[in-house]
Amino acid sequence: MTDAADRLQARFEQRAARAEALAETPSSGVEPLRFAAGLFRAQARAASGVLQEHGRRGLSGTLEEDLPRVEGALRSVLRFLAESGPLALRDGATSRAAEPPELFAARLRTAWRGGPEERQDFVSHAVLRAYAEALVHAGVELDRPREPGSGRCPACGAPPSISFRRSMPGSDGAARFLGCGLCGTEWQTNRIRCPSCGETDPQRLPGWQSEAFPVARVEACETCQRYVKSVDLSLDGLAVPEVDELRSLSLDLWAVERGYVRLEPGLAGV
Ligand SMILES: [Zn+2]
Ligand SMILES: [Zn+2]
Repeated sequence: MTDAADRLQARFEQRAARAEALAETPSSGVEPLRFAAGLFRAQARAASGVLQEHGRRGLSGTLEEDLPRVEGALRSVLRFLAESGPLALRDGATSRAAEPPELFAARLRTAWRGGPEERQDFVSHAVLRAYAEALVHAGVELDRPREPGSGRCPACGAPPSISFRRSMPGSDGAARFLGCGLCGTEWQTNRIRCPSCGETDPQRLPGWQSEAFPVARVEACETCQRYVKSVDLSLDGLAVPEVDELRSLSLDLWAVERGYVRLEPGLAGV
């Protein structure tokens, strides 16, 4: 369990370090990057607390059963949001932290079991990330309802929050991956396919790039009007997709103005 805890901690730390490094360079998105760094550190501590509980008595992957044991660890993410989150989240997180345990549990259950609308609950999502990613690292199956659709996370069933391209040894061009914002799983997928509706006609899958940050792009679908943000790791091998996309939030605004809806929000809540 120690190895798993170390690996998990290292993953969160790598994201936090990348966010801190990007926040030092003059660019847009400094505030979301600083917030992301703090959130990843808070989630790192919470996730290793969850793994310790797994080491002690085992976890089932069913939130209702596990929550009494992991609640203390998960509440530390809530405290971070209440003390250091963006102003827009701070008040909400503060009042949540003061709510009775039954209500805390009920809100998490709703976000865990619910569909897209419930996942817009950013606070619950940030808290559950630590639990979900710890389960994945412990090799425990996540007990969540699976939504229909081919582009869903193989570990937890949520839609991807990010897409990225990476050069693969021995192959031409970059391979495409999707990343889950709920449990941190990454999986390879077809280069030309909408992860929301499965559309494969390239004419209906337009993409747009930001001139200021060419590693990021919007991958949209004209059939379902959804889009995912994509980060090209073949252009910058140090990039961490869900962190680097925070530098190009203007692309999200641009896509939303054109009537597209992001399939799953990223760390800026867009
Ligand atoms: Zn997942
Ligand atoms: Zn689509």
